[in-house]
Amino acid sequence: EEKSSCQILTPQTTVKLLDSVDVFLFDCDGVIWKGDVLIDGVSETLDTLRAMGKKLVFVTNNSTKSRKQYAKKFRSLGISVSEDEIFSSSFAAAMYLKVNEFPKEKKVYVIGEEGILEELELAGFTGLGGPEDGKKTVQLKANYLFEHDENVGAVIVGLDQYINFYKLQYGTLCIRENPGCLFIATNRDAVGHLTDLQEWPGAGCMVAAICGTTQKEPIVVGKPSTFLMDFLLQKFNVPTSRMCMVGDRLDTDILFGQNAGCRTLLVISGVTKVSDLVDPSNHILPEYLTNTLSDVVRLLHD
Ligand code: PLP
Ligand code: CA
Repeated sequence: EEKSSCQILTPQTTVKLLDSVDVFLFDCDGVIWKGDVLIDGVSETLDTLRAMGKKLVFVTNNSTKSRKQYAKKFRSLGISVSEDEIFSSSFAAAMYLKVNEFPKEKKVYVIGEEGILEELELAGFTGLGGPEDGKKTVQLKANYLFEHDENVGAVIVGLDQYINFYKLQYGTLCIRENPGCLFIATNRDAVGHLTDLQEWPGAGCMVAAICGTTQKEPIVVGKPSTFLMDFLLQKFNVPTSRMCMVGDRLDTDILFGQNAGCRTLLVISGVTKVSDLVDPSNHILPEYLTNTLSDVVRLLHD
């Protein structure tokens, strides 16, 4: 099969795609919604796919919410999903610690928001930092020693709209001075649609700040990490060739699916434009391409 080109969804290729897939993995922002605004036709499309017997899974790199908070967001947009169909990078971070038997007596410093703290708590870990530390300042004066907790065994960095100098110093000291302290990034997205009309800085810039101060590379637990894929695959008894990752980003979503041998569908309702796809510097090509998620059902009736 030709790997160096992608197929545009047509009535014929849509039938082929639907026949070959049992599980759909959906990226959220850019596929399901933009910020807090649902993308046209998504609700009906998900209903139809469920009626066809497809299993639906939602995978988001946005770590600001927990699975529980995402389930609430879906419901407020008129889509019913259960928490265990949602895999957020905040949940992935807590699961990484759990799978790797991170000691419960150690603490986790969070440069990020409520979603990470909530997932840590649900998994039985002690989180420090988070939005609360957004109010803290440092005093740069003689004989002042910035103190940090030596029992912090991991620093998790995700999107943090309350990022400040205090947090950067705290996270840096933990990673540099606490023996064996893990440096975990929820994701490295450059930008995200915090609102529907424009892009905002993504977690990538907070992660880059800590890479800069520590000269270390993080363990990434969100897309495109193999950790998240392996974790997710344990929940389904389906070969990856019968799964399809639907996303709007090449370097997170499409790569995530491709690395595992899933089918991939790029939609251009999010951050990637057709011009990005054909740009000579791009080496990631999806198997299928279409405008928006609702095409996978609409084309069946054309
Ligand atoms: N991170 C942040 C902060 C975001 O705002 C977004 C999208 O809104 C993302 C990541 C990407 O999320 P997703 O993986 O659902 O596209
Ligand atoms: Ca996306």
